[in-house]
Amino acid sequence: MSENHQVLFRKYRPQFFRDVIYQDLAVGSLQNAFKSKKIGHAYIFIGPRGVGKTTIARILAKRLNCERPDGVEPCNECTSCLEITKGNSNDVFEIDAASNSGVDNIRELRENVKFNAMGGKYRVYILDEVHMLSGAAFNALLKTLEEPPAHVVFILATTEYHKIPETILSRCQDFHFRKVPVTALQNYIETLCEKEGLKYDSEGLFWIAKKGDGSVRDTLSFMEQAVIFTDGNLTGAKLRKMIGYHGIDTFTDFLNQLVDSSQSAQIFETLENLFQAGIDLSKFVWDFVEFLNSLLLIKDNLADRESINIPQEDLQKLKQNYRDLDREVLVLLAERIFSIHEKLNLMKLRSSYEMKVYLEIQFRKLILDREKPSVSGLLAKISELTKLVQGDISHLPENLELPKKLPTPVPTPVSQKPEPVQTVVEKPKQNIELDTKPNPPKQEPAPTPKPAPQNPASAEDMEKLLKEKFSGMEVDPNQFKNL
Ligand SMILES: [Zn+2]
Repeated sequence: MSENHQVLFRKYRPQFFRDVIYQDLAVGSLQNAFKSKKIGHAYIFIGPRGVGKTTIARILAKRLNCERPDGVEPCNECTSCLEITKGNSNDVFEIDAASNSGVDNIRELRENVKFNAMGGKYRVYILDEVHMLSGAAFNALLKTLEEPPAHVVFILATTEYHKIPETILSRCQDFHFRKVPVTALQNYIETLCEKEGLKYDSEGLFWIAKKGDGSVRDTLSFMEQAVIFTDGNLTGAKLRKMIGYHGIDTFTDFLNQLVDSSQSAQIFETLENLFQAGIDLSKFVWDFVEFLNSLLLIKDNLADRESINIPQEDLQKLKQNYRDLDREVLVLLAERIFSIHEKLNLMKLRSSYEMKVYLEIQFRKLILDREKPSVSGLLAKISELTKLVQGDISHLPENLELPKKLPTPVPTPVSQKPEPVQTVVEKPKQNIELDTKPNPPKQEPAPTPKPAPQNPASAEDMEKLLKEKFSGMEVDPNQFKNL
């Protein structure tokens, strides 16, 4: 099987510019250079790992030295092309700057560039990870780049643009390489599956492409492992198992258990089942946070394949299912569970059992908080009622009965614990009656009572008053709003 591993990785390495995927900008510019016969002496390829920098550097080297080029492409058949493909050309030097970072290495290189090309027209130096060079090595390289011999072409490659001295950059033509999007990777590996006769489904390829994280090389490496793991059957279900992802159904069930109080008990059952199955609970919690974040992106119409870990097929389903779920509830949940995950990692618990106990406590707390009314929830309700009083009250029911004898105004509660919603909401109701002077119902007018000292004059005053009253309370600002 390890032979197969090598085969996939090398077999499909592009040998022509036209076979490189998604780097049209860089490839197009290089092809134009050949069309206009303006070959530079120093190029710098900038971009993330595994997106084709070295591959394109080799194709460029081949085209420069090709005996029978076909337009902008090398022939891949002449002696020079074949030698470069095999890696034994005497004119093309691939140097890993990470392990040859010293000034002596570059001095040696400077001595070397004086010699003419052996077979081809150019001596091509490909310096990979060039940002690893020492300061002195960069200075030595700069001297060569300032006056390069006519037969020498440098191709510097780096993942870390900001570490390259400006003096070096100013001597090079720069080419920017981009991460390859999931869709492009998915389409690419689909063609490979067809060529290799592998079974697959769209979701399976999605997870492979996602795992590649924009890198063709990483995608292919992972695909090779997946071929072994799934025995050549790259389906979503098998791939999910391979990467330890639980799938949408597990997360939607868990979310429903969290937002629906009648299902709360099942949260602990789920945790227990995951624990018994030997699932990494920390990873589960993180994946769930990611899922909640994805739901928010979906609600905001910002979800695409790059931003979320959800296959295309499930996107619409989720959008539909959670259309009515309050965004604020999702944000609060995501925030709380994110912080649970963060603490979980910091605590460095000794066993998965300790992890399970910790999570059970945290989720129990989360459920309790969900059932508590929050200050913001109360304030919103009171503010709503106050506005109602001060606005048009003609819509109040005509048969609204006023008490014959008004109860003695009760001072605003200052208890340490938040009172149930009804108790606090009753207060403004009482004020409705107190302030209802115009158009009183046809009843014996109640004696005008003295307004309560705390009676707020406006919605803003009332909010301020309530905030003062509640300011001493210890209320977790992250707790659920009153549903
Ligand atoms: Zn050739």
